[in-house]
Amino acid sequence: MTLSVLSVASEAYPLVKTGGLADVVGALPGALAPHDVAMTTLLPGYPALGKLGRAKVVHRWPDLLGVEARLLRGEIAGHPLLVLDAPDLFARDGGLYADRGGKDWPDNWRRFAALARAGADLASGAVRGHAFDILHAHDWQAAMATAYLRLAPGPGPVARSIVTIHNMAFQGWFDASIFAYLGLPPHSFTLEGVEYFGGVGFLKAGMEAADAITTVSPTYAHEIRSPAFGMGLEGLVAARHGRVHGIVNGIDPAVWNPATDAALPARFTARTLARRATNRRAVEAEFGIDAGDGPLFTVISRLTWQKGMDVLAELLDVLVARGGRLALLGSGDAALEAAFLGAAARHPGRIGVRIGYDEALSHRLQGGADAILIPSRFEPCGLTQLYGLAYGCVPVVARTGGLADTVIDANDAALAAGVATGIVHDATTADTLGDAIARAIALFDRPETWATLQRNGMKADFSWGESGRRYAALYAALAAA
Ligand code: ADP
Repeated sequence: MTLSVLSVASEAYPLVKTGGLADVVGALPGALAPHDVAMTTLLPGYPALGKLGRAKVVHRWPDLLGVEARLLRGEIAGHPLLVLDAPDLFARDGGLYADRGGKDWPDNWRRFAALARAGADLASGAVRGHAFDILHAHDWQAAMATAYLRLAPGPGPVARSIVTIHNMAFQGWFDASIFAYLGLPPHSFTLEGVEYFGGVGFLKAGMEAADAITTVSPTYAHEIRSPAFGMGLEGLVAARHGRVHGIVNGIDPAVWNPATDAALPARFTARTLARRATNRRAVEAEFGIDAGDGPLFTVISRLTWQKGMDVLAELLDVLVARGGRLALLGSGDAALEAAFLGAAARHPGRIGVRIGYDEALSHRLQGGADAILIPSRFEPCGLTQLYGLAYGCVPVVARTGGLADTVIDANDAALAAGVATGIVHDATTADTLGDAIARAIALFDRPETWATLQRNGMKADFSWGESGRRYAALYAALAAA
């Protein structure tokens, strides 16, 4: 029997993306299709979705948390898409979650409660012509859908529900004064409902209400049971641990494959690694970096504390002194952007920095740089190390979350066994990261060993095959319960 799943999220590649969440939400329908799962994705109607202009209206809400809204039907990569068209909430210039100045939209609670309410309506018979076995909500922006399903469902059969945590650092906490506008019964403002630290916690509410909780790697699923990673929700994770599953993200081969990637000057496979030299020269030219003997490192990242970028910024003089070079693409904290631009100014020809967001450039960097630095303090799954592995761009990562689950350190045993795929260091400090950079530079000096690392990574299977199967099994178990 085909299971029908509604995936509710605030972003999905290729329509709207600010990070890994979009890649995963965009890939899931294709990953689940081979397992007899028909997935429909529900997204907010941001201006970027305006391309769906002629989409068919399938439902209208005269009053969805105080605003008028319509449901439009479209397609995303050949799979069904529903768009919550609510101009009062989503038709605005700026970011998905914040204005141009980086300040969170003050009505984010209403924007994403409305998305969640629409998802719950769809998954409990309140929208004619739509029925789903499972509602799968991603992150705090969608998590309230499971709370609505449990606390205030529609008139029809109620779907089973899953919340996936892509990053515990973003929890969607709002002042208690919003509760009155959520349309929930008064008794829901309790610890077992949506109350959290005296206010309303969207992620917390979803985790409490969902039939299952997943997060995006087994190691992170374990880490979030401790305060440092659970960030206040560790007690809830521990209490529900029997229902918490860690399923690592896959990569979408239609988007990330160096043999077919149209963004690359030279396409290549594990057998034609030498062609990467063309890509490296292109990156050097683009970033104003001189040719050299040492490795060309890259960073493709949000420039934030989570990503360990403050520690890296302090080590750049050392990286250059040891013969390394760096091409960085990222944006984020103003102080970190300034620190990286300052390093580029100090080291012309050795460090190039591009502040911004550029999807095609991120592909060129993976296809041309020698190694990618990912010194995250925590990393639920991480995708850039997976893209690095697939592209022969050796990942240098901290041993945390999904990084620990997907990269095999080039220690002597792993090198001897021929299984190493990268460099893994202990919790990020100037010492551990400095040592890891030194190890990378030394290994790069041994071309055959380095090429083995590259080939091992390229051969590793990070497709959605196994993870798609695990989500499908979880859906089936919930539907049968
Ligand atoms: P997170 O979601 O925490 O930012 P992930 O590693 O899971 O981290 O996913 C990041 C995604 O965003 C990857 O697809 C990566 O290539 C992309 N990315 C990050 N920064 C940039 C940037 N400045 N330009 C283009 N792509 C970027």
